[in-house]
Amino acid sequence: MNTDEKVYDVCIIGAGFSGLVLAIKLARAGLLVCLVELNRMVGRRILSTGNGRCNFTNSRMGAQYYYSNHSLDFISDNHNDLRQFLNELGVYDKDLDGYYYPITNQAKTVREALENEISFLGIDVLLDNRVTEVSKADLFKVTTTRTIVNAKKVCVASGGLAAATLGSSKIGYKIAQSFKMKTTKLSPALVGVKSSSQCLKELAGVRATGVVSYKDYSCEGEIQFNKDSVSGYPIMCISRFIGFDELDKKLSDIRIDFIPYLSAEQLKDELTKRFNRNPKATILTALVGLCNEKAIEQVVSYSRIYGDTTVDRLDEEDVENLVYFFKNFTISVDGTKGFDSAQVTAGGVDLSEIDTSSMESLKCKGLYFTGEVLDVDGICGGYNLNWAYTSADIASKSIIKELQ
Ligand SMILES: Cc1cc2nc3c(=O)[nH]c(=O)nc-3n(C[C@H](O)[C@H](O)[C@H](O)COP(=O)(O)OP(=O)(O)OC[C@H]3O[C@@H](n4cnc5c(N)ncnc54)[C@H](O)[C@@H]3O)c2cc1C
Repeated sequence: MNTDEKVYDVCIIGAGFSGLVLAIKLARAGLLVCLVELNRMVGRRILSTGNGRCNFTNSRMGAQYYYSNHSLDFISDNHNDLRQFLNELGVYDKDLDGYYYPITNQAKTVREALENEISFLGIDVLLDNRVTEVSKADLFKVTTTRTIVNAKKVCVASGGLAAATLGSSKIGYKIAQSFKMKTTKLSPALVGVKSSSQCLKELAGVRATGVVSYKDYSCEGEIQFNKDSVSGYPIMCISRFIGFDELDKKLSDIRIDFIPYLSAEQLKDELTKRFNRNPKATILTALVGLCNEKAIEQVVSYSRIYGDTTVDRLDEEDVENLVYFFKNFTISVDGTKGFDSAQVTAGGVDLSEIDTSSMESLKCKGLYFTGEVLDVDGICGGYNLNWAYTSADIASKSIIKELQ
């Protein structure tokens, strides 16, 4: 397609969730929109979300579930708006304890519904076009590897650096910097954490619940142990802090509380009670049921007790060591598994450079940013797609008001 002569109202860079939502909202308002995408299909990343099921929002919604270097007070609970938006495209949803998925359980449904609407609205989509530069004179000029798109406004919805194989590039940050906008440090987030702790050789394959702490940050859930890394919900949640500490060379250990349902004092009483009931039981028998059996074996080993020791041979110090290691099981941290394994990018275009009531750059009129490219990242649970939607929704309202 030769777009040299045509002047679009808006050129959107990136046909991910954010770009697609924005394009649909603008085209429905009668604006002439061009979507430019480096992949050969729109919304490719959506297919991988929620383990192929697409957890697109959450009933517990608000600024407290997001991180940024800037205030996020403008984020409110809009999860029902997003549900309605998808519902209007034919995507019905189901609520799994507040986590929303398409009723089909297939992320494919969401991608296809968005693609169908883009096609129905007759939006021009330039696939297999990598944007290399954006410049501004009277109009914006978006240069791709194949063509040049002229537009009155441009929205950068090009995502972050996570999961490069699904299509990611630094273009969003480069465009911001070319218009003298600041970007913050970038870290992989919602990602597994590498560790060379010896205990992982024994724990590999285990899934155990507990509270994971890293410095001041804690999160509870199922931890998955692999031979050279840990993952699972609580690890994903703290990984962004590990990522930034890795950049600053300030890494610390992870601590796991395998028995969060008892305080240290209650656990000590529980152990004493168990040991008194059957003094001839081996330590491993006496501890059965407190938490995952492999975790118990490791805690006993950390406490320097042999598994076949009968409990009548344990002294006060042994009990204190057991309590300590059940509640402070330590794993060394070598860093995160990196952007390729990450679900999202922490950091991005600095929100202090953006009017958050419109998502427009404060440095360049007519230039907008939405989605993951901005310095906003959410926790696990549908928050990042919700942010992609929220920012697109804000931008759409502002652009429609100006151009209609
Ligand atoms: C494995 C995985 C699972 C996830 N699961 C969930 C989940 O269940 N729930 C949730 O809320 N979030 C989830 N996320 C995060 C979520 O997918 C992203 O936060 C969200 O898709 C960001 O949307 P976006 O539109 O801002 O960016 P993207 O979806 O990344 O879209 C950006 C688009 O821009 C294109 N692009 C990039 N550079 C260029 C260029 N130079 N020229 C043209 N096009 C370009 C890309 O190809 C891409 O299509 C998951 C992420 C991954 C990787």
